[in-house]
Amino acid sequence: MILPVVAYGHPVLKRVAEDIEPDYPNLQQLIADMFETMYHSEGVGLAAPQINKSIRLFVIDADPFHETYPEAKGFKKVFINPEIVEVSEETWTFREGCLSLPDMNEDVVRPSKIVVNYLDENFVEHEEEFDGIKARVIQHEYDHLEGKVYVDRVAPMRKMMLKNKLRNISEGMVAVDYKMIFPNKRRR
Ligand code: ZN
Repeated sequence: MILPVVAYGHPVLKRVAEDIEPDYPNLQQLIADMFETMYHSEGVGLAAPQINKSIRLFVIDADPFHETYPEAKGFKKVFINPEIVEVSEETWTFREGCLSLPDMNEDVVRPSKIVVNYLDENFVEHEEEFDGIKARVIQHEYDHLEGKVYVDRVAPMRKMMLKNKLRNISEGMVAVDYKMIFPNKRRR
């Protein structure tokens, strides 16, 4: 089932999400729905807060990036209760976008390499190192669990310039071809 995506400005995107247990109701269905929603809206990642659930879960399929970033080939994963336990000093600037902020992209600086401890969809624990585009997408989704979005990481001057655009998004004054929940919806 395709779920509506929460837009910028919604309080759920500012909350720190909570860990889940293996008996979380209908978890496998929720994961399937999140993948379906992500593919439908042509995203490469989707975090549970973006579908209005404040839990520590995100899904990734970075395969659409594989022509530019070969390591993205077949990179499809579920992350439950993840913790980023190490970040590199070396950083990388990449132009990010987000399903909660349609029609917008900004350069974001992040560590280029990370180590993540997480559970997969079967609650099997992993600790893995990621770099390149994989580390990028994971950090973007992880931010959603921490109550952050990528525009919180752009320079304050730049964010000020984006103020009107961000307000328009929260009010639904944006062209988008997937279903969304706008926190400050206005009639046109
Ligand atoms: Zn996002």
